[in-house]
Amino acid sequence: MKKIILAFLATVMLTVSASAVNLYVDTAKINTDVAPVVIEGRTLVPVRAIFEALGATVEWDQSTKTATGTKGDTVITIQINNTTAYVNNEAKTLDVPAQLVNNRTMVPARFISEALECDVTWDQATQTAAVANETKGHQIYVTKTGKRYHYDPNCNGGTYYEATLAEAMGRNLTPCEKCVLK
Ligand SMILES: [Zn+2]
Repeated sequence: MKKIILAFLATVMLTVSASAVNLYVDTAKINTDVAPVVIEGRTLVPVRAIFEALGATVEWDQSTKTATGTKGDTVITIQINNTTAYVNNEAKTLDVPAQLVNNRTMVPARFISEALECDVTWDQATQTAAVANETKGHQIYVTKTGKRYHYDPNCNGGTYYEATLAEAMGRNLTPCEKCVLK
């Protein structure tokens, strides 16, 4: 029995270390040259990729190692290895700071997304982070057969289970053509 458990644990650990983290903004997969990583339970993503995917512009100050992202009236500044970041000059504490990974500046996806008033969900099973920007507020429902996702819990009279956008995206579900906005 012990052997079986150890073999199982080894398999799980291999699976987790080998699987990349998927990042979606709404239903679009964000492809980045340096893959998103999980550090101390936080998903870190390349700074330019996340800001631009959320419609923000980003500037980089090499002398202070600080990124400034701007979207509308919101200005976010975040510095490498600094656990204090700023949203419109208001100090925010990060448990995991921005940092260099493979020589690329990586920032916490949830902090950036929430500062830009997006929702973030995480699906552990598929290691998928999903940022709801345009789809914010849309509850996702998945068919029992697990092929499609819906916004409408009763589309076609079917019964669905509630899921997160991250789960739907991580499982490569296709949107219902009747009730999911393009
Ligand atoms: Zn539907």
